[in-house]
Amino acid sequence: MTVFSGKGVYGAIAQGKITIIKQQDTTIKCLHIENTEAEKSRIEAAKTAAAEQLQGIYEKALKEIGETNAQIFEIHMMMLEDDDYNDSITNIIDTQKVNAEYAVAVTADNFAEMFSSMDDAYMRARAADVRDISNRLIANLTGSISDNAVSDDRMIICADDLAPSETVSLDKDKVVAFVTAHGSSNSHTAILARNMNIPAIIGVGDEFLKAVKNGSAAIVDGYTGEIFVEPDEATKACLEKKRAEDEQKKRLLQELKGKDNITIDGTKVNIYANIGSVDNIGAVLANDAGGIGLFRSEFLYLESNDYPSEEQQFAAYKRVLESMAGKKVIIRTLDIGADKQVDYFNLAKEENPALGYRAIRICLTRPEIFKTQLRALYRASAYGNLGIMFPMITSVSELEKILEICREVKEQLIAEGVELSERVELGIMIETPAAAIISDRLAPMVDFFSVGTNDLTQYTLACDRQNAAIEQFVDTHHEAVLRLIEMSVQNAHKHGAWIGICGELAADTTLTESFLRMGIDELSVSPSFVLKVRNAVRHCDLSKK
Ligand code: PEP
Ligand code: MG
Repeated sequence: MTVFSGKGVYGAIAQGKITIIKQQDTTIKCLHIENTEAEKSRIEAAKTAAAEQLQGIYEKALKEIGETNAQIFEIHMMMLEDDDYNDSITNIIDTQKVNAEYAVAVTADNFAEMFSSMDDAYMRARAADVRDISNRLIANLTGSISDNAVSDDRMIICADDLAPSETVSLDKDKVVAFVTAHGSSNSHTAILARNMNIPAIIGVGDEFLKAVKNGSAAIVDGYTGEIFVEPDEATKACLEKKRAEDEQKKRLLQELKGKDNITIDGTKVNIYANIGSVDNIGAVLANDAGGIGLFRSEFLYLESNDYPSEEQQFAAYKRVLESMAGKKVIIRTLDIGADKQVDYFNLAKEENPALGYRAIRICLTRPEIFKTQLRALYRASAYGNLGIMFPMITSVSELEKILEICREVKEQLIAEGVELSERVELGIMIETPAAAIISDRLAPMVDFFSVGTNDLTQYTLACDRQNAAIEQFVDTHHEAVLRLIEMSVQNAHKHGAWIGICGELAADTTLTESFLRMGIDELSVSPSFVLKVRNAVRHCDLSKK
């Protein structure tokens, strides 16, 4: 038995088999090569392997997501055989005497650039496909392809760190735990684990990935942050006992279903759920959440190979609203950029992506994307109780522009005779210090605020939420963050707006009483935390000093 430890970011215990997801090294070195024929043979072998992989993915997709959605992999197989693409690779090898990886990377850049500059939107979107097949070729050349990882029924996903786009392609029914060498508590892998109600450990270090093998049996303890590889019988028995007790505690919380979120002195608060996909609605209902306080709409963009159409988005939003049967559903407009990269957006590489071109900044500079999403949202509003929320707000003028675009989209839909709800609430995330500081100016313009403590903490404390090396400096209870929240509550209430918290801090039950004393109206947490927070609320007595 070998034990590795990191930081547990979701408390639960699970046993399964190690499944390593290898990341592709995106820095391709240019090497001088004498034997160009050998490089060309390497390309041929990589192409054969890539074609076989794509055929396998196509067949799986055909079964799981239907023919229309699976077609993209047929297109990839065709692109792999494209003469211009292949000639470019071999020409570069022959004329520049360079390694195959480099020739593929240069070809990918050239072709992607060519597609991106085309007028036709369909052709522009092919830039992402050419990058995708090129990455696959490079991964085969370097031996870092991960499709051949063991596919067990109980997978413990082990990786360096996981990008949101990588988690999208996982077969989530089979994933029982996440363990990453790097990553941070508020990274999206951690959020996903909480949503899926499975243990997660971050920061186990590079040695871990070198030491473990695909297929090894292991037990993950998300409470202590330990992973036991090939555990001995005594450890197995001890962790099984702990798991059973944990289950029992979670079962006890089930008794709180149907009960009010009310303190001993009679103060009520709404407890809503955060979701990242339509598939999470089952968990929202099963955990008796009063509504959805944050629906991260990015998943629609991450799961797709091209901009999701108005119809696709409308269908997804309508489904969520209908499933929630009149309960509040707050859908956040797209928050792409920073750590949530989507190839077809063709975003430039940035020095400081968290401070860069992301979220509302993309929407305001590419209004066609924003308007498509808003049209889908307003059309879906007829099917339930919708709130629309905008991320990464920093100024009054930004919000004025957003509200103007909303008015325009609404008027256009009404002119088209489309039925919409009269009472769509509009709100903003308070996730930058700027927004909190000018919350007195922003509050009169909206119906609600929702505090995004994950980003608010990173920007206030100047600590990149993705950087594991500075975890020790991230004090989630830092007075500066709590003061900004309190200030936002006071300003919201002064101007008749309600205010919730949808960042991870909302689930920190050591702060529940403080939040209630500040006057927070809503706490929105991962579905698996709803009953735990209800329990904490029911134990608070605000009449006592
Ligand atoms: C936040 O920043 O707190 C938040 C809820 O948004 P996300 O984690 O998706 O950035
Ligand atoms: Mg955020």
